[in-house]
Amino acid sequence: MAIKLLSVASEIYPLIKTGGLADVAGALPGALVGHDVETRTLVPGYPSVLLRAGKAKVVRRYEALFGATATVLAAHVDGLDLLILDAPDFFAREGGPYGDHAGNDWGDNWRRFAALSRVGADIAAEGIKGWRPAIVHAHDWQAAMTAAYMRFGPAHGIPKIVTIHNLAFQGRFGADIFGQLGLPAEAWGVDGVEYYGGTGFLKAGLVSADAITTVSPTYAEEIRSPMNGMGLDGLINGRSDRLHGILNGVDTDIWNPAEDELIARRYSARGLGGRSTNRKALEKRFGLQRDDAPIFVIISRLTWQKGMDQMVGAIDHLVGLGGKLAVLGSGDHALEGSFLAAADRHRGRVGVQIGYDEPLSHLLQAGGDAILIPSRFEPCGLTQLYGLRYGCVPVVARVGGLADTVIDANEAAVNAGVATGILFSAGDPLALYGAIARSVRLHGDPDAWQAMQRAGMRADFSWTHSAARYAALYRDLLDRAAA
Ligand code: ADP
Repeated sequence: MAIKLLSVASEIYPLIKTGGLADVAGALPGALVGHDVETRTLVPGYPSVLLRAGKAKVVRRYEALFGATATVLAAHVDGLDLLILDAPDFFAREGGPYGDHAGNDWGDNWRRFAALSRVGADIAAEGIKGWRPAIVHAHDWQAAMTAAYMRFGPAHGIPKIVTIHNLAFQGRFGADIFGQLGLPAEAWGVDGVEYYGGTGFLKAGLVSADAITTVSPTYAEEIRSPMNGMGLDGLINGRSDRLHGILNGVDTDIWNPAEDELIARRYSARGLGGRSTNRKALEKRFGLQRDDAPIFVIISRLTWQKGMDQMVGAIDHLVGLGGKLAVLGSGDHALEGSFLAAADRHRGRVGVQIGYDEPLSHLLQAGGDAILIPSRFEPCGLTQLYGLRYGCVPVVARVGGLADTVIDANEAAVNAGVATGILFSAGDPLALYGAIARSVRLHGDPDAWQAMQRAGMRADFSWTHSAARYAALYRDLLDRAAA
Protein backbone atom coordinates (compact mmCIF):
# COMPACT_ATOMS: atom_id res chain seq x y z
CA MET A 1 0.00 0.00 0.00
CA ALA A 2 1.21 3.50 -0.79
CA ILE A 3 2.76 5.41 2.07
CA LYS A 4 0.92 8.65 2.76
CA LEU A 5 3.48 11.35 3.42
CA LEU A 6 2.91 14.89 4.62
CA SER A 7 5.78 17.16 3.62
CA VAL A 8 5.96 20.59 5.26
CA ALA A 9 8.07 23.25 3.58
CA SER A 10 8.26 27.03 3.41
CA GLU A 11 9.19 27.07 -0.30
CA ILE A 12 8.31 24.90 -3.25
CA TYR A 13 9.35 25.23 -6.88
CA PRO A 14 7.78 26.48 -9.15
CA LEU A 15 5.53 28.51 -6.84
CA ILE A 16 7.98 30.14 -4.48
CA LYS A 17 11.75 29.81 -4.39
CA THR A 18 14.71 31.48 -2.75
CA GLY A 19 17.11 28.55 -2.95
CA GLY A 20 17.73 24.83 -3.16
CA LEU A 21 15.08 23.96 -0.56
CA ALA A 22 12.38 24.90 -3.07
CA ASP A 23 13.90 22.71 -5.76
CA VAL A 24 13.97 19.74 -3.40
CA ALA A 25 10.45 20.26 -2.04
CA GLY A 26 9.19 20.55 -5.61
CA ALA A 27 11.02 17.56 -7.07
CA LEU A 28 11.00 14.93 -4.33
CA PRO A 29 7.23 14.22 -4.41
CA GLY A 30 7.38 13.26 -8.09
CA ALA A 31 10.47 11.13 -7.56
CA LEU A 32 8.79 9.29 -4.68
CA VAL A 33 5.79 8.22 -6.74
CA GLY A 34 7.79 5.33 -8.20
CA HIS A 35 8.51 4.16 -4.66
CA ASP A 36 4.86 4.06 -3.78
CA VAL A 37 4.96 7.17 -1.63
CA GLU A 38 2.06 9.57 -2.02
CA THR A 39 3.06 13.08 -0.94
CA ARG A 40 0.97 16.09 -0.01
CA THR A 41 2.93 19.23 0.75
CA LEU A 42 1.83 21.87 3.23
CA VAL A 43 3.09 25.32 2.20
CA PRO A 44 2.34 28.89 3.27
CA GLY A 45 -0.21 30.78 1.20
CA TYR A 46 2.10 33.50 -0.08
CA PRO A 47 0.57 35.63 -2.87
CA SER A 48 2.52 33.75 -5.57
CA VAL A 49 1.25 30.43 -4.25
CA LEU A 50 -2.40 31.50 -4.06
CA LEU A 51 -2.17 32.99 -7.53
CA ARG A 52 -1.20 29.63 -8.98
CA ALA A 53 -3.56 27.59 -6.82
CA GLY A 54 -6.55 28.14 -9.08
CA LYS A 55 -9.57 26.15 -7.97
CA ALA A 56 -8.67 25.29 -4.42
CA LYS A 57 -10.97 23.62 -1.91
CA VAL A 58 -11.16 24.66 1.73
CA VAL A 59 -10.38 21.56 3.78
CA ARG A 60 -9.73 23.01 7.23
CA ARG A 61 -10.58 26.22 9.07
CA TYR A 62 -9.11 28.09 12.02
CA GLU A 63 -10.92 30.88 13.83
CA ALA A 64 -7.78 31.88 15.66
CA LEU A 65 -4.50 30.39 14.59
CA PHE A 66 -2.05 32.38 16.66
CA GLY A 67 -4.73 35.04 16.63
CA ALA A 68 -5.39 34.95 12.89
CA THR A 69 -8.19 33.48 10.86
CA ALA A 70 -6.88 30.84 8.50
CA THR A 71 -7.97 28.12 6.17
CA VAL A 72 -6.16 25.19 4.62
CA LEU A 73 -6.78 24.86 0.89
CA ALA A 74 -6.24 21.73 -1.17
CA ALA A 75 -5.02 22.27 -4.72
CA HIS A 76 -3.15 20.53 -7.53
CA VAL A 77 -0.50 22.68 -9.17
CA ASP A 78 2.03 21.46 -11.71
CA GLY A 79 1.68 17.86 -10.60
CA LEU A 80 2.07 18.81 -6.94
CA ASP A 81 -0.57 17.91 -4.41
CA LEU A 82 -0.62 20.96 -2.16
CA LEU A 83 -2.18 21.92 1.13
CA ILE A 84 -1.94 25.68 1.33
CA LEU A 85 -2.12 27.52 4.62
CA ASP A 86 -4.09 30.60 3.66
CA ALA A 87 -3.57 32.99 6.56
CA PRO A 88 -3.53 36.52 5.09
CA ASP A 89 -2.32 38.12 8.34
CA PHE A 90 0.85 36.04 8.06
CA PHE A 91 1.52 35.45 4.40
CA ALA A 92 -0.28 38.04 2.24
CA ARG A 93 2.70 40.38 2.05
CA GLU A 94 4.79 42.07 -0.58
CA GLY A 95 8.43 40.99 -0.48
CA GLY A 96 10.08 37.64 0.04
CA PRO A 97 8.89 34.67 2.05
CA TYR A 98 10.96 35.66 5.08
CA GLY A 99 11.38 39.41 4.81
CA ASP A 100 10.64 42.66 3.03
CA HIS A 101 12.12 43.93 -0.23
CA ALA A 102 15.03 45.51 1.64
CA GLY A 103 16.00 42.11 3.04
CA ASN A 104 14.84 42.71 6.64
CA ASP A 105 13.31 39.61 8.24
CA TRP A 106 9.66 39.94 9.23
CA GLY A 107 9.48 40.58 12.97
CA ASP A 108 6.79 37.94 13.42
CA ASN A 109 8.54 35.11 11.61
CA TRP A 110 8.35 32.97 14.73
CA ARG A 111 4.58 33.24 14.67
CA ARG A 112 4.27 32.70 10.91
CA PHE A 113 6.25 29.49 10.94
CA ALA A 114 5.01 28.24 14.28
CA ALA A 115 1.57 28.54 12.66
CA LEU A 116 2.69 26.54 9.61
CA SER A 117 4.13 23.86 11.88
CA ARG A 118 1.13 23.80 14.19
CA VAL A 119 -1.11 23.15 11.19
CA GLY A 120 1.25 20.40 10.01
CA ALA A 121 0.91 18.68 13.37
CA ASP A 122 -2.87 19.14 13.36
CA ILE A 123 -3.12 17.50 9.94
CA ALA A 124 -0.91 14.67 11.19
CA ALA A 125 -3.24 14.17 14.16
CA GLU A 126 -6.61 14.58 12.51
CA GLY A 127 -6.09 14.11 8.79
CA ILE A 128 -7.90 15.94 6.07
CA LYS A 129 -11.08 14.64 4.53
CA GLY A 130 -10.23 10.99 4.90
CA TRP A 131 -6.54 11.45 4.08
CA ARG A 132 -4.21 10.92 7.00
CA PRO A 133 -0.43 10.90 6.76
CA ALA A 134 1.42 7.84 7.99
CA ILE A 135 4.63 9.86 8.21
CA VAL A 136 5.64 13.53 8.27
CA HIS A 137 8.71 15.12 6.69
CA ALA A 138 9.54 18.70 7.72
CA HIS A 139 12.16 20.85 5.98
CA ASP A 140 14.42 23.38 7.71
CA TRP A 141 13.68 25.60 10.70
CA GLN A 142 10.51 27.06 9.21
CA ALA A 143 8.83 23.66 9.34
CA ALA A 144 10.87 21.94 12.04
CA MET A 145 8.46 22.83 14.83
CA THR A 146 6.01 20.42 13.20
CA ALA A 147 8.03 17.64 14.82
CA ALA A 148 7.87 19.38 18.22
CA TYR A 149 4.12 19.98 18.02
CA MET A 150 3.67 16.35 17.05
CA ARG A 151 5.85 15.05 19.84
CA PHE A 152 4.02 17.03 22.52
CA GLY A 153 0.56 16.43 21.08
CA PRO A 154 -1.80 13.72 19.88
CA ALA A 155 0.29 12.86 16.79
CA HIS A 156 3.30 11.77 18.86
CA GLY A 157 3.15 8.19 17.58
CA ILE A 158 3.50 9.17 13.92
CA PRO A 159 7.08 9.02 12.61
CA LYS A 160 8.58 12.39 11.81
CA ILE A 161 11.67 13.43 9.93
CA VAL A 162 13.43 16.77 9.89
CA THR A 163 15.76 17.62 7.01
CA ILE A 164 18.51 20.19 7.45
CA HIS A 165 19.08 22.06 4.20
CA ASN A 166 21.33 24.61 5.86
CA LEU A 167 22.34 24.60 9.50
CA ALA A 168 23.19 28.31 9.33
CA PHE A 169 19.50 29.14 9.45
CA GLN A 170 18.12 27.94 12.78
CA GLY A 171 15.07 30.02 13.63
CA ARG A 172 16.27 31.39 16.96
CA PHE A 173 13.97 33.64 18.96
CA GLY A 174 13.63 34.95 22.50
CA ALA A 175 12.51 32.88 25.47
CA ASP A 176 9.51 35.17 25.84
CA ILE A 177 7.68 33.63 22.88
CA PHE A 178 7.55 30.21 24.47
CA GLY A 179 4.32 31.00 26.34
CA GLN A 180 2.63 31.83 23.05
CA LEU A 181 3.62 28.67 21.20
CA GLY A 182 0.86 26.61 22.74
CA LEU A 183 3.20 23.87 23.88
CA PRO A 184 2.99 22.22 27.31
CA ALA A 185 5.41 23.46 30.01
CA GLU A 186 7.41 20.23 29.72
CA ALA A 187 8.43 21.27 26.18
CA TRP A 188 10.68 23.93 27.68
CA GLY A 189 14.12 22.57 28.49
CA VAL A 190 17.28 21.21 26.94
CA ASP A 191 15.38 18.25 25.59
CA GLY A 192 12.75 20.55 24.06
CA VAL A 193 12.60 23.96 22.44
CA GLU A 194 14.95 25.81 24.80
CA TYR A 195 18.20 26.72 23.08
CA TYR A 196 20.95 28.68 24.82
CA GLY A 197 18.36 30.46 26.93
CA GLY A 198 16.10 31.29 23.96
CA THR A 199 13.78 29.37 21.69
CA GLY A 200 15.24 27.31 18.85
CA PHE A 201 12.88 26.10 16.16
CA LEU A 202 15.36 23.92 14.28
CA LYS A 203 16.79 22.67 17.54
CA ALA A 204 13.31 21.71 18.77
CA GLY A 205 12.73 19.80 15.55
CA LEU A 206 16.03 17.98 15.76
CA VAL A 207 15.44 16.72 19.30
CA SER A 208 11.88 15.72 18.47
CA ALA A 209 12.40 13.96 15.14
CA ASP A 210 12.63 10.20 14.74
CA ALA A 211 15.19 10.73 12.00
CA ILE A 212 17.32 13.67 10.93
CA THR A 213 18.53 13.93 7.40
CA THR A 214 20.78 16.38 5.70
CA VAL A 215 21.50 16.84 2.06
CA SER A 216 24.89 15.22 1.52
CA PRO A 217 27.01 12.57 3.26
CA THR A 218 29.95 14.94 3.72
CA TYR A 219 27.80 17.69 5.26
CA ALA A 220 26.33 15.05 7.59
CA GLU A 221 29.87 14.48 8.87
CA GLU A 222 30.88 18.14 8.88
CA ILE A 223 28.00 19.28 11.08
CA ARG A 224 29.20 16.94 13.83
CA SER A 225 32.25 19.14 14.37
CA PRO A 226 32.24 22.33 16.47
CA MET A 227 33.57 24.26 13.47
CA ASN A 228 30.56 23.46 11.28
CA GLY A 229 27.95 22.46 13.81
CA MET A 230 26.96 26.05 14.51
CA GLY A 231 26.14 25.30 18.12
CA LEU A 232 24.16 22.17 17.32
CA ASP A 233 27.07 19.74 16.93
CA GLY A 234 26.63 18.37 20.46
CA LEU A 235 22.98 17.62 19.85
CA ILE A 236 23.67 16.17 16.40
CA ASN A 237 26.45 13.96 17.73
CA GLY A 238 24.14 12.72 20.44
CA ARG A 239 21.67 11.69 17.76
CA SER A 240 24.17 10.47 15.16
CA ASP A 241 22.47 7.07 15.01
CA ARG A 242 19.45 8.92 13.65
CA LEU A 243 21.36 11.06 11.17
CA HIS A 244 21.44 10.34 7.43
CA GLY A 245 23.17 12.20 4.61
CA ILE A 246 21.14 11.88 1.41
CA LEU A 247 22.23 13.85 -1.64
CA ASN A 248 19.77 16.10 -3.39
CA GLY A 249 18.98 15.17 -6.96
CA VAL A 250 18.31 17.13 -10.11
CA ASP A 251 14.81 17.45 -11.49
CA THR A 252 15.67 16.19 -14.95
CA ASP A 253 12.37 17.40 -16.40
CA ILE A 254 13.42 20.95 -15.65
CA TRP A 255 17.18 20.67 -16.06
CA ASN A 256 17.80 18.86 -19.31
CA PRO A 257 19.82 20.61 -22.05
CA ALA A 258 18.27 18.38 -24.71
CA GLU A 259 14.77 19.67 -23.96
CA ASP A 260 15.27 22.99 -22.18
CA GLU A 261 13.09 25.69 -23.70
CA LEU A 262 14.75 28.44 -21.70
CA ILE A 263 18.04 28.24 -23.60
CA ALA A 264 19.01 29.52 -27.05
CA ARG A 265 19.76 26.09 -28.50
CA ARG A 266 19.23 22.60 -27.16
CA TYR A 267 22.08 20.09 -27.19
CA SER A 268 23.29 16.82 -25.75
CA ALA A 269 26.63 15.31 -24.73
CA ARG A 270 27.04 13.97 -28.26
CA GLY A 271 26.55 17.38 -29.86
CA LEU A 272 28.39 19.77 -27.61
CA GLY A 273 28.78 22.09 -30.60
CA GLY A 274 25.22 23.20 -29.89
CA ARG A 275 26.56 24.99 -26.83
CA SER A 276 28.19 27.68 -28.97
CA THR A 277 24.82 29.29 -29.78
CA ASN A 278 24.13 29.54 -26.06
CA ARG A 279 27.61 30.91 -25.50
CA LYS A 280 26.99 33.69 -28.01
CA ALA A 281 23.61 34.49 -26.47
CA LEU A 282 25.27 34.67 -23.08
CA GLU A 283 28.04 36.97 -24.33
CA LYS A 284 25.44 39.26 -25.81
CA ARG A 285 23.28 39.28 -22.71
CA PHE A 286 26.21 40.12 -20.42
CA GLY A 287 28.02 42.47 -22.80
CA LEU A 288 31.05 40.20 -23.04
CA GLN A 289 33.53 40.34 -25.91
CA ARG A 290 33.21 37.51 -28.36
CA ASP A 291 36.33 35.32 -28.27
CA ASP A 292 37.42 31.83 -27.28
CA ALA A 293 38.44 32.72 -23.73
CA PRO A 294 36.73 30.61 -21.06
CA ILE A 295 33.55 32.09 -19.64
CA PHE A 296 33.20 31.53 -15.91
CA VAL A 297 29.70 31.92 -14.54
CA ILE A 298 28.27 32.47 -11.08
CA ILE A 299 24.62 31.82 -10.17
CA SER A 300 24.36 32.40 -6.48
CA ARG A 301 23.18 34.18 -3.43
CA LEU A 302 25.90 36.80 -2.99
CA THR A 303 26.87 36.01 0.58
CA TRP A 304 29.75 35.14 2.86
CA GLN A 305 28.65 31.48 2.96
CA LYS A 306 29.03 31.28 -0.80
CA GLY A 307 32.55 32.75 -0.58
CA MET A 308 31.49 35.70 -2.68
CA ASP A 309 33.72 38.15 -0.79
CA GLN A 310 36.72 36.05 -1.82
CA MET A 311 35.34 35.76 -5.32
CA VAL A 312 35.23 39.56 -5.66
CA GLY A 313 38.91 39.59 -4.72
CA ALA A 314 39.71 37.05 -7.43
CA ILE A 315 38.07 38.87 -10.35
CA ASP A 316 41.11 40.90 -11.42
CA HIS A 317 43.16 37.70 -11.35
CA LEU A 318 40.57 35.87 -13.46
CA VAL A 319 40.54 38.65 -16.04
CA GLY A 320 44.34 38.89 -15.93
CA LEU A 321 44.49 35.23 -16.93
CA GLY A 322 42.33 35.97 -19.96
CA GLY A 323 39.04 34.66 -18.56
CA LYS A 324 35.60 36.23 -18.75
CA LEU A 325 32.96 36.26 -16.02
CA ALA A 326 29.16 36.43 -16.04
CA VAL A 327 27.46 36.83 -12.66
CA LEU A 328 23.79 36.40 -11.79
CA GLY A 329 23.02 36.88 -8.15
CA SER A 330 21.65 38.93 -5.34
CA GLY A 331 22.16 39.18 -1.62
CA ASP A 332 24.55 41.24 0.44
CA HIS A 333 24.27 44.83 -0.82
CA ALA A 334 27.98 45.58 -0.33
CA LEU A 335 28.89 42.49 -2.38
CA GLU A 336 26.40 43.41 -5.09
CA GLY A 337 28.15 46.79 -5.30
CA SER A 338 31.60 45.18 -5.50
CA PHE A 339 30.53 42.93 -8.37
CA LEU A 340 29.01 45.88 -10.25
CA ALA A 341 32.21 47.86 -9.71
CA ALA A 342 34.23 44.96 -11.14
CA ALA A 343 31.99 44.93 -14.22
CA ASP A 344 32.66 48.66 -14.65
CA ARG A 345 36.38 48.10 -14.28
CA HIS A 346 36.44 45.25 -16.79
CA ARG A 347 33.92 46.17 -19.46
CA GLY A 348 33.58 43.38 -22.01
CA ARG A 349 35.29 40.90 -19.68
CA VAL A 350 32.95 40.90 -16.70
CA GLY A 351 29.16 41.17 -16.84
CA VAL A 352 26.94 41.30 -13.77
CA GLN A 353 23.21 41.06 -13.36
CA ILE A 354 21.89 41.66 -9.88
CA GLY A 355 18.59 39.94 -9.21
CA TYR A 356 16.87 36.61 -9.41
CA ASP A 357 16.15 35.27 -12.88
CA GLU A 358 15.29 31.61 -13.31
CA PRO A 359 15.38 31.52 -17.18
CA LEU A 360 18.69 33.37 -17.27
CA SER A 361 20.17 30.84 -14.85
CA HIS A 362 19.50 28.15 -17.48
CA LEU A 363 21.24 30.15 -20.21
CA LEU A 364 24.28 30.65 -17.97
CA GLN A 365 24.59 26.90 -17.45
CA ALA A 366 24.12 26.22 -21.17
CA GLY A 367 26.51 28.90 -22.43
CA GLY A 368 29.14 29.14 -19.69
CA ASP A 369 32.30 27.04 -19.74
CA ALA A 370 32.75 26.74 -15.98
CA ILE A 371 30.62 27.50 -12.94
CA LEU A 372 32.49 28.90 -9.95
CA ILE A 373 31.30 27.89 -6.47
CA PRO A 374 33.80 28.99 -3.79
CA SER A 375 31.50 28.25 -0.82
CA ARG A 376 32.87 28.21 2.72
CA PHE A 377 30.30 25.54 3.48
CA GLU A 378 27.74 23.95 1.21
CA PRO A 379 25.17 21.47 2.53
CA CYS A 380 24.59 20.02 -0.95
CA GLY A 381 24.58 22.68 -3.62
CA LEU A 382 22.50 22.32 -6.74
CA THR A 383 24.17 24.66 -9.18
CA GLN A 384 27.17 22.34 -9.54
CA LEU A 385 24.77 19.50 -10.38
CA TYR A 386 23.05 21.63 -13.01
CA GLY A 387 26.53 22.57 -14.27
CA LEU A 388 27.47 18.89 -14.60
CA ARG A 389 24.32 18.19 -16.52
CA TYR A 390 24.82 21.15 -18.87
CA GLY A 391 28.53 20.69 -19.58
CA CYS A 392 29.34 23.82 -17.57
CA VAL A 393 32.32 22.45 -15.66
CA PRO A 394 32.07 23.00 -11.88
CA VAL A 395 35.02 24.71 -10.21
CA VAL A 396 34.15 24.22 -6.57
CA ALA A 397 35.40 24.35 -3.00
CA ARG A 398 36.04 20.94 -1.48
CA VAL A 399 33.22 21.04 1.10
CA GLY A 400 29.88 19.38 1.79
CA GLY A 401 27.91 18.26 -1.21
CA LEU A 402 30.37 19.89 -3.59
CA ALA A 403 33.03 17.40 -2.48
CA ASP A 404 30.52 14.55 -2.86
CA THR A 405 29.50 15.31 -6.41
CA VAL A 406 32.51 16.63 -8.35
CA ILE A 407 35.58 14.56 -9.31
CA ASP A 408 38.71 16.70 -9.44
CA ALA A 409 40.72 16.82 -12.64
CA ASN A 410 43.88 15.49 -11.08
CA GLU A 411 46.16 13.55 -13.38
CA ALA A 412 44.86 10.13 -12.40
CA ALA A 413 41.24 11.15 -12.91
CA VAL A 414 41.97 12.86 -16.22
CA ASN A 415 43.85 9.81 -17.49
CA ALA A 416 41.01 7.55 -16.40
CA GLY A 417 38.50 9.85 -18.12
CA VAL A 418 36.45 10.33 -14.96
CA ALA A 419 37.26 13.92 -14.00
CA THR A 420 34.21 16.18 -13.96
CA GLY A 421 35.50 19.43 -12.48
CA ILE A 422 38.04 21.24 -10.36
CA LEU A 423 38.18 21.18 -6.57
CA PHE A 424 40.09 23.50 -4.24
CA SER A 425 40.39 24.15 -0.52
CA ALA A 426 37.44 26.07 0.88
CA GLY A 427 37.92 29.51 2.40
CA ASP A 428 41.40 29.96 0.95
CA PRO A 429 41.74 32.83 -1.57
CA LEU A 430 45.03 31.48 -2.92
CA ALA A 431 43.43 28.11 -3.58
CA LEU A 432 40.64 29.88 -5.46
CA TYR A 433 43.23 31.75 -7.55
CA GLY A 434 44.97 28.45 -8.27
CA ALA A 435 41.72 26.78 -9.30
CA ILE A 436 40.92 29.59 -11.72
CA ALA A 437 44.41 29.28 -13.24
CA ARG A 438 44.03 25.50 -13.54
CA SER A 439 40.67 25.95 -15.24
CA VAL A 440 42.07 28.40 -17.77
CA ARG A 441 44.93 26.00 -18.52
CA LEU A 442 42.65 23.00 -18.90
CA HIS A 443 40.24 24.95 -21.07
CA GLY A 444 43.18 25.58 -23.41
CA ASP A 445 43.19 21.83 -24.14
CA PRO A 446 39.83 21.31 -25.89
CA ASP A 447 40.04 17.51 -25.85
CA ALA A 448 40.65 17.38 -22.12
CA TRP A 449 37.94 19.98 -21.48
CA GLN A 450 35.34 18.18 -23.58
CA ALA A 451 36.18 14.89 -21.89
CA MET A 452 35.37 16.58 -18.57
CA GLN A 453 32.15 18.02 -19.92
CA ARG A 454 31.05 14.63 -21.23
CA ALA A 455 31.96 12.80 -18.04
CA GLY A 456 29.91 15.32 -16.06
CA MET A 457 26.94 15.03 -18.42
CA ARG A 458 27.04 11.23 -18.12
CA ALA A 459 27.01 11.27 -14.33
CA ASP A 460 23.60 10.42 -12.90
CA PHE A 461 22.45 12.93 -10.30
CA SER A 462 18.78 12.42 -10.96
CA TRP A 463 16.52 11.77 -7.99
CA THR A 464 16.48 8.03 -8.71
CA HIS A 465 18.97 6.97 -6.03
CA SER A 466 18.09 9.58 -3.45
CA ALA A 467 14.34 9.07 -3.67
CA ALA A 468 14.96 5.36 -3.09
CA ARG A 469 16.93 6.23 0.04
CA TYR A 470 14.18 8.49 1.41
CA ALA A 471 11.57 5.83 0.67
CA ALA A 472 13.68 3.19 2.46
CA LEU A 473 14.03 5.52 5.44
CA TYR A 474 10.28 6.12 5.58
CA ARG A 475 9.63 2.37 5.48
CA ASP A 476 12.20 1.73 8.17
CA LEU A 477 10.63 4.32 10.47
CA LEU A 478 7.17 2.92 9.85
CA ASP A 479 8.39 -0.59 10.65
CA ARG A 480 9.97 0.62 13.87
CA ALA A 481 6.81 2.50 14.84
CA ALA A 482 4.72 -0.62 14.23
CA ALA A 483 7.07 -2.91 16.17
P1 ADP B 1 21.25 27.69 -1.75
O1 ADP B 1 19.99 26.93 -1.55
O2 ADP B 1 22.19 27.64 -0.60
O3 ADP B 1 21.04 29.10 -2.22
P2 ADP B 1 21.76 25.77 -3.91
O4 ADP B 1 22.88 25.64 -4.86
O5 ADP B 1 21.36 24.56 -3.13
O6 ADP B 1 22.08 26.99 -2.94
O7 ADP B 1 20.46 26.23 -4.68
C1 ADP B 1 20.37 27.47 -5.30
C2 ADP B 1 19.22 27.44 -6.29
O8 ADP B 1 18.81 28.78 -6.57
C3 ADP B 1 19.59 26.85 -7.63
O9 ADP B 1 18.44 26.31 -8.24
C4 ADP B 1 20.09 28.07 -8.40
O10 ADP B 1 20.02 27.89 -9.80
C5 ADP B 1 19.12 29.11 -7.92
N1 ADP B 1 19.61 30.49 -7.92
C6 ADP B 1 20.47 31.07 -7.04
N2 ADP B 1 20.63 32.37 -7.32
C7 ADP B 1 19.85 32.62 -8.40
C8 ADP B 1 19.57 33.80 -9.17
N3 ADP B 1 20.11 34.98 -8.86
N4 ADP B 1 18.72 33.69 -10.21
C9 ADP B 1 18.17 32.49 -10.53
N5 ADP B 1 18.38 31.36 -9.85
C10 ADP B 1 19.21 31.43 -8.79
